[in-house]
Amino acid sequence: MPADYHTHTPLCRHAGGAPEAFVDAAIAAGLTEYGISDHAPQRPEPFDDWRMSEAELPEYFEWIARARAHAAGRIPIRAGLECDWLDGGEPWIADLASRHDWDYLIGSVHYLGDWDFDNPKWLGRWAESDVEAVWTHYWQTYARMAESGLFDILGHPDLVKKFSFRPQGDLARFYEPAIDAIAAGGCAIELNTAGWHKPCAEAYPAPGFLELACSAGVPLVISSDSHAPQEVGRDFTKAIALAKAAGYRETQLFEKHRRRGEPLA
Ligand code: ZN
Ligand code: FE
Ligand code: FE
Ligand code: ZN
Repeated sequence: MPADYHTHTPLCRHAGGAPEAFVDAAIAAGLTEYGISDHAPQRPEPFDDWRMSEAELPEYFEWIARARAHAAGRIPIRAGLECDWLDGGEPWIADLASRHDWDYLIGSVHYLGDWDFDNPKWLGRWAESDVEAVWTHYWQTYARMAESGLFDILGHPDLVKKFSFRPQGDLARFYEPAIDAIAAGGCAIELNTAGWHKPCAEAYPAPGFLELACSAGVPLVISSDSHAPQEVGRDFTKAIALAKAAGYRETQLFEKHRRRGEPLA
């Protein structure tokens, strides 16, 4: 099984489980590596209620150290963060990058302006929105994140579909410019299996996006985005089949921002 690099800890206030339980689940799932990438702190604080605070970073490092001690050579444990891409937020990401000897940083678009559009509390706002305009804003933002060069992995590429608000017609018009930016930026994307368990009932990204990304030579990782031990490596067999159908022959491993391919079994 590939590595699972997108996983959370209780520090984000909406995940549960001890580091030992996450590591045991990763070993039981037969993963190559297990990576921890909790929601990064954000400035100015207080920012929102679904991430660790800056003052909790030492606790986060301790959590990672506990996972490593428990793994004890049985599975490599990688250290990362899931960082929020906000316009003008580049200096803060660079600051976070300097706080630890990270193996990778994941960049995610959860905010359009001040709207955390993937938060279920905003379903009413979605219903009143111009979906075409929201998608256009989302993909422009995603492309800027890809071009920033600050991330090793770009998270859940089409998260904007989470609640199944999709524009009419062929969505390739959104995908193509974003994939051009991703390919130029040189980072990997993830195939995130959590989408199968959300209203969109589809992994992030959609198969059509994945095929275009593979043709453009964009490297891939497979992630669960687990917020509980039982979600580690979830649906990876299904995800491997989807990646292969899109043309992928390998996924990526990261160590200290260095990337190498691992053949898809
Ligand atoms: Zn989360
Ligand atoms: Fe996310
Ligand atoms: Fe996540
Ligand atoms: Zn995520």
